[in-house]
Amino acid sequence: MDRNLDGHTDTSHGKLRSVAFIGLGIMGGPMAANLVRAGYRVTGHNRSRAAVDRLVEAGGHAAGSVAEAVADADAVITMLPADAEVTEVVLGEGGVLQHARAGSLLIDMSTISPRTAVALAEAGREYGLRVLDAPVSGGEAGAIEGVLSIMAGGEDADFERAAPLFHALGTTVVHVGPPGAGQTVKAANQLVVAVNIQALAEAVVFLEKAGADLPAALTVLGGGLAGSTVLNRKKDAMLNRDFAPGFRIDLHHKDLGIVTDTARDTGAVLPTGTLVAQLLSSCRENGEGGLDHSALLRGVERLSGRARTD
Ligand code: NAD
Repeated sequence: MDRNLDGHTDTSHGKLRSVAFIGLGIMGGPMAANLVRAGYRVTGHNRSRAAVDRLVEAGGHAAGSVAEAVADADAVITMLPADAEVTEVVLGEGGVLQHARAGSLLIDMSTISPRTAVALAEAGREYGLRVLDAPVSGGEAGAIEGVLSIMAGGEDADFERAAPLFHALGTTVVHVGPPGAGQTVKAANQLVVAVNIQALAEAVVFLEKAGADLPAALTVLGGGLAGSTVLNRKKDAMLNRDFAPGFRIDLHHKDLGIVTDTARDTGAVLPTGTLVAQLLSSCRENGEGGLDHSALLRGVERLSGRARTD
């Protein structure tokens, strides 16, 4: 067995039993609870305490700091808003790299840029940690039901080791390539979802303006080629004008920033994605950043002269 500079035992080959979970928000809260149900010992840390209390009620353990959460963990999962928070929690003073055991596995499941994911993998290697980027798709409902799609980037052996844990969180679990590849695939996912929601929002305004029976129309659209998971999952939010998140426009705006930056780096030209990125920006500037991304509907309504504030 190897030992790191602190003399801790290197546990990089064993079965994962104890998990530190950092970031217990809309996604992380139910994901951590699913790991408890699957038999893992889960220690949670979150910036605000109420989320940690909910994990304790679900059978998890509380940690007051990142250092305390990761000290005895075989795996550390981060599920934080964006690059800045992940970088701070992993690389910062008192962060994961300084306090996790050598050989433990860091799995970042947040959506961040591929470039930052690669940097984390390189930094982790210097500290004797294994690192996977494993962002998810499926939304809050997918997190609660344990049916997420998980797209992982990293080394084969690390993916194999994490696979049982991933299967406690999701049903579609795919190793898509080397470090950063998970985030690249997730960016593509966010591009497809944003364009789909915008198309659905435009169809809703189009149907309403034409005086169509909207619920009937969306039911039949759902059964044909226009049907989609987006339509199934976002139809009721649009019909009921219930824009409680879900997935916040602020976060989707962040994700399309990753898409457009990466596209510029690679030379991919994405006219529709770039346009939808601007439409998400418009919603934010209209004070809608905290609403679910189905509130792209409000932007289409504004453009069509039927702005509503409900
Ligand atoms: P959220 O804002 O609900 O949760 C983030 C949590 O991190 C919050 O509880 C916050 O208090 C905590 N946090 C922030 N900074 C922290 C820090 N420095 N230390 C400890 N805790 C900290 O966000 P979410 O919707 O759960 O999304 C998390 C990630 O998952 C994002 O990257 C998002 O893009 C991605 N994602 C979200 C969804 C969705 O539908 N909500 C779906 C797929 C992926």
